[in-house]
Amino acid sequence: MKKVNEITFFILIAAIFISTFVLTDVLDMPNLYLIDIEGVSFIDGWTWKGDGYKERYYLPHRFDVEKSEPLVIKNTVPDHFPAGSVIALKANVQSVVIKIDGETVYDIGNDRSKFMGRDLGNYWAVVKTQSEHKGKEIEISLFSHRAASHGFASEVFIGSESAFYGYLFAQHGLWNIFPPIIFILGVMIILTFFFLGMYKEKNLSLLYLGIYALLMSNWFLGDSEMLQLFTANTYYATRIAYLMTLVSPIPVSLYIREAVPMKKRFFDDFLIGLIIINTIVSLGLEHSGILGLSDTVLVAVGLISVMCVYYMAIFIIESVAYKNEKALRELKSLSVIFIFAVAEIISYFVNGQIVSSLYLRIGVLIYIVLVLIYQVKDYRERRRIRVEKEYYEKMAYTDAMTGAGNRARFMEDMDMITKPEKVIIVLADIDRMKYINDYFGHFSGDKAIIDTYNTLNTNFGHIGRIYRIGGDEFVVIVEKININEIYAIIKNLEKEVDLIDKESEYDFSISLGVAEYDVSLDEDIHATFLRVDHSMYENKKKHRTAIPAKMPDNQRMYQDKTHNDH
Ligand code: GH3
Ligand code: MG
Repeated sequence: MKKVNEITFFILIAAIFISTFVLTDVLDMPNLYLIDIEGVSFIDGWTWKGDGYKERYYLPHRFDVEKSEPLVIKNTVPDHFPAGSVIALKANVQSVVIKIDGETVYDIGNDRSKFMGRDLGNYWAVVKTQSEHKGKEIEISLFSHRAASHGFASEVFIGSESAFYGYLFAQHGLWNIFPPIIFILGVMIILTFFFLGMYKEKNLSLLYLGIYALLMSNWFLGDSEMLQLFTANTYYATRIAYLMTLVSPIPVSLYIREAVPMKKRFFDDFLIGLIIINTIVSLGLEHSGILGLSDTVLVAVGLISVMCVYYMAIFIIESVAYKNEKALRELKSLSVIFIFAVAEIISYFVNGQIVSSLYLRIGVLIYIVLVLIYQVKDYRERRRIRVEKEYYEKMAYTDAMTGAGNRARFMEDMDMITKPEKVIIVLADIDRMKYINDYFGHFSGDKAIIDTYNTLNTNFGHIGRIYRIGGDEFVVIVEKININEIYAIIKNLEKEVDLIDKESEYDFSISLGVAEYDVSLDEDIHATFLRVDHSMYENKKKHRTAIPAKMPDNQRMYQDKTHNDH
């Protein structure tokens, strides 16, 4: 039944989705998307002030405009679009003024007092049309300090607002997926860093990797020109890509510092310093209106390249000269970024320095994922070593046969007793251990030792610590318990020993010694122990004289025989 349900479920889903794409054609439902593709692009019939509005141009077009003059183009607002349609133009590091019928309807980037710097980055200038705009003259003025952007007019869009969003997304299509993925990855890496408690390890590599992912996703989000849909913050939406270009190499370097132990570091800190200085200088130049971030960004890109080449070089040196495995794998992942970055730079110049950071997104995503895998591997290795170390440390202080503390643990614990008042020590030694070993075998001897520990543990385990300090010798340290209680426990323990003795094929008994620390007698706890040892030996004397009653059958025959002979 379960299987039938499962299969039906999947068939149903498949049927529903197939029908949504196929049935619309069959049933001839009206198309909700009313604007035809032709109408979405408002690219035909633009005239230019530069030639006296004589010729007609298709957009995008690069006009030959004077450096100090804005690019001014004109057209007529189509009258077949409903009022409320939007006219949108992508500004590439340009200020935009749009006039319809002589009236300014959009103005951004001209008023120096309103924003920092010389030019805004890439964004969409969007104007909502009114019914009286139909058939009227539209004039667009564009200005940029940046040579590659000045004189360039990109495509103009006209259509409904929702169609505009579709158009926006279609600009970069699948490339749009990368920035949010990298962003989510960054957040997850940073959360992992804190949830796994990695900050306690004093290794911040994963944190820097997460920060790098966040910075890069901001850069790419800025470059996607879609940030303005999510935030009204013009400064953030139009400038974040440049700002991130300035600082993003810093967390990479910091990451490498944490993650890759190297013999030689040469210029790590020098490079980070250089990038920081460049950031400050670039912002300063921008702020004082001398050079825009769009001009100085090439220096930042240059520094990123230098850093990339530098790290690749030292990774090669490290992996070849010092067989540094970690450097080798970092080299591999960095090469990925490098290859995509080169593709990016080529595409940037081929496309007239207008489109930016597409290939780099793939490179960065692969790089982060690769490095993340290495980091998780490293972390698991570190954890394995830690667990192993703890295990061996524990084993070094544990008696393997019984699980009691061993002699080393006993000595350390004794030394730790600084306030010996109310400390009681019990000593237990198996009687005639050699007899058990010799007549019943070592296996029986071992059993006697384990039995002794078990009975000590059931009686003292809840109030004290038990140690096996010699072959058949155990100590119990008890603190803050009345000595009379100890005597009661010992009575019970002796009963248990008698029971074991009854069930064993050999004579089983133990000699005990017990004493409490006494200020008037003992200089320290070690003195108490000596008294306990002494009292145990006094007890042992009684047991020693007793001749063992139980003998293995073959031995008894032998014994009886020799007895008769005499
Ligand atoms: P006493 O009555 O005076 O205590 O004599 P004893 O035979 O028990 O001798 P003693 O305590 O001096 O010696 C302990 C013996 O325990 C010596 C050694 O052969 C034996 N022994 C020590 N460790 C082990 C062990 O792990 N397994 C076994 N089967 N025997 C052990
Ligand atoms: Mg013994």
